[in-house]
Amino acid sequence: MIERRITVPAMQRDTPPHDKVIPIRLESLRAPAAPRYDGAPLADRLGRSLRDLRISVTDRCNFRCVYCMPREVFDANYKFLPQASLLSFEEITRLARVFVGLGVKKIRLTGGEPLVRRDLPKLITQLAELPIDLTLTTNGSLLAKQARALAQAGLKRITVSLDSLDDATFRAMNDADYPVAEVLEGIDAAAAAGLAPVKINMVVKRGVNDRQVLEMARHWRGSGHVIRFIEYMDVGSTNGWKMDEVVPSAEIVRRIGEVFPLEPVDADYQGEVAERWRYRDGAGEIGVISSVTQAFCRDCNRLRLSTEGQVYTCLFAQSGHDLRTLLRAGASDDALRDQIAALWRAREDRYSEIRGAQTDQGESGRRKVEMSYIGG
Ligand code: SAM
Ligand code: SF4
Ligand code: SF4
Repeated sequence: MIERRITVPAMQRDTPPHDKVIPIRLESLRAPAAPRYDGAPLADRLGRSLRDLRISVTDRCNFRCVYCMPREVFDANYKFLPQASLLSFEEITRLARVFVGLGVKKIRLTGGEPLVRRDLPKLITQLAELPIDLTLTTNGSLLAKQARALAQAGLKRITVSLDSLDDATFRAMNDADYPVAEVLEGIDAAAAAGLAPVKINMVVKRGVNDRQVLEMARHWRGSGHVIRFIEYMDVGSTNGWKMDEVVPSAEIVRRIGEVFPLEPVDADYQGEVAERWRYRDGAGEIGVISSVTQAFCRDCNRLRLSTEGQVYTCLFAQSGHDLRTLLRAGASDDALRDQIAALWRAREDRYSEIRGAQTDQGESGRRKVEMSYIGG
């Protein structure tokens, strides 16, 4: 196994120095050739099928959300990936086609902030030819300008992250002094371009924005858009996650339900991440994503492709599997397919289910890849 460490110069600060190294072990660079894929439906070691692919198109972002890319780590000295190591749009599309051949039905473009990747609509045009549900997650800051081009390129749906409607709280959370109003404009532009209903993601951190949960629910009630409340997760190794900053989804449903009565809605499909609730008065739906308090590993059908072509079988993985080297060495589609199929069949990740035992109220101590690199 080869270990690659992205090292960033030490900080000149009076705060305790972070270990600014993101551990990425590249497992398959010298892996033996995988057995030939037999064409049977793919199932991993826990019987889970492969359905969702998340593709990170950049590790860069114009925000510094405190729970994702803390500024003291992702500062001016931080070394983002060089252009040459990024998968090109052609490489991404080729891999996507192989994944679709193995059963992938849904592709989500993410990052980092996907809208900072130049010419993104060109990639969307290429991916839109595949028989998949194509969607994208964005912080919304560049959406007002790009919504129409994205929709024209073939994007069908979009998710926008928005952690607060209170401007001061939002600016503090994105730590880039970015105003709420422009994200709201982006959501309107997306709806006008035909990307409605928009899904809106709010990461809830106790003591930071949890007081705005009800306000957020009230704001989007009856709008046709769907707000989803996400439990703050211990992704990566830099956000200083603590269990007592997590607001359990059950508490969110209770708080909203006390004011606007709710009832559960069946999942759209097996493995759907958000648990759905609807207002009894018909004013629409909300979702809760309980990755910490109610792990959903049992149905997890997701694979992640990083910006530089590493495949990760879990959001909390410590190592990836290198497809870019294979691609650039001239591997055939069949060889790529065999590798991916073998990787999925060997998969046994279930980090969120075992987190409780490992973390004991705090960090697990294990080094995990950052979400901005692997793709949220
Ligand atoms: N930049 C885009 C955005 O913010 O929507 C896409 C990438 S971001 C990593 C994808 C999603 O992950 C966002 O909805 C974000 O709020 C969420 N996220 C990031 N860090 C998180 C954490 N520690 N816990 C829970 N959700 C997190
Ligand atoms: Fe950027 Fe999205 Fe991470 Fe915020 S959550 S820092 S917008 S990648
Ligand atoms: Fe899937 Fe890993 Fe999340 Fe479990 S912890 S739901 S296996 S990505």
